[in-house]
Amino acid sequence: MIFDNRKQDLPRYTIRISQKAKYLRLKITAESGLEVIVPKNYDHKRIPEIVRQKQAWVEKATQKIQAQRQNLISRPTEILPTQLIFKSIDQSWQIEYISTTSSKFSAIEQPHNRLVVSGDITDLDSCRELLRQWIARKGKQILIPWLKSVSQSIELPFNQATVRGQKTRWASCSIAKDISINYKLLFIAAPLVHYVFVHELCHTVQMNHSAKFWALVGIKEPSYQELDRTLRQTWQDVPSWI
Ligand SMILES: [Zn+2]
Repeated sequence: MIFDNRKQDLPRYTIRISQKAKYLRLKITAESGLEVIVPKNYDHKRIPEIVRQKQAWVEKATQKIQAQRQNLISRPTEILPTQLIFKSIDQSWQIEYISTTSSKFSAIEQPHNRLVVSGDITDLDSCRELLRQWIARKGKQILIPWLKSVSQSIELPFNQATVRGQKTRWASCSIAKDISINYKLLFIAAPLVHYVFVHELCHTVQMNHSAKFWALVGIKEPSYQELDRTLRQTWQDVPSWI
């Protein structure tokens, strides 16, 4: 066994001069580590001795902070979603995370609606981005055929459909009759999705919100007023990180 006989060094600390402080104070946080807060005009030569006296407390507090940090890293599921509910099609997905050392991320669908995300799962932003991409793919698979079937049943054809993750719009329709659909529609109730599609398809005839437009919507979807009202309050159904 090798004993480390070096004279014990003081823990690393930063000094912060506080206008309000009356005494020297030690503070440990996960972000800044050990801070020595001193009043202005404090004699800095006294600091090492005080830190030395408080060393037992500093070590204990440091251990506690490190345990907290470790917890955050080993339980990313507390900050990443473990479930996604596609209310529109009454489908829920369980998300599992596997930590790998590879720099590549993957999201693989498994039987029984399980989605396995693997990669450096401490990189929360990349994990969320990967999930958004997966949701966008699901949106394309589910929402485009849905739009087509509504288009056929109400006899209002469109040109092309694309799926995106717009911030403030559920969908939009261009003069060329191209419809852009928000994949966030997956998270809201089916009758509302149906209404959004009817609304946009009516824009292929009326590119505005005139009385003529609403009259057409009323023919295609008689309860449009209530649906339109509910739709305005339904953004809260979409998880905020998406
Ligand atoms: Zn509109």
